[in-house]
Amino acid sequence: MPVDSKQPYDDQNIFARILRGELPAKTVMESQHSLAFHDISPLAPIHVLVIPKGHYVCWDDFSASASDAEIADFTRTIGQVAAAVGADQQGYRILSNTGKRSGQEVPHLHVHVFGGQPLGPMLAK
Ligand code: AMP
Repeated sequence: MPVDSKQPYDDQNIFARILRGELPAKTVMESQHSLAFHDISPLAPIHVLVIPKGHYVCWDDFSASASDAEIADFTRTIGQVAAAVGADQQGYRILSNTGKRSGQEVPHLHVHVFGGQPLGPMLAK
């Protein structure tokens, strides 16, 4: 089921379970408010997910309700992740699917960091 950006937070979602240590993840970096780990099905040589530790369904939810400290931490962590995995040298793409039309599958905000190869057009026409 695609995520509805207005749905309530489900604390049994996969990323909530990773945050609680109930499921494994290949961690790239952790900060006070954010966690970054490798995507389980990478779509590029570099494919890292960055998530806030707080309970936010998607970007709408996070941008409206997160504290300034959480937003600052999340934004900085994304930049630090890109540097940590070497994506910043040749360029990279960040993307966050939000709600039904985007194809968002996991109802906990995540930003994808793609890199390691030419990434092609932003969307297929
Ligand atoms: P989205 O379609 O934007 O919701 O992206 C969800 C992403 O989560 C996909 O790229 C999946 O491959 C990834 N994913 C799902 N389960 C896991 C997991 N257990 N560990 C790491 N990545 C996962």
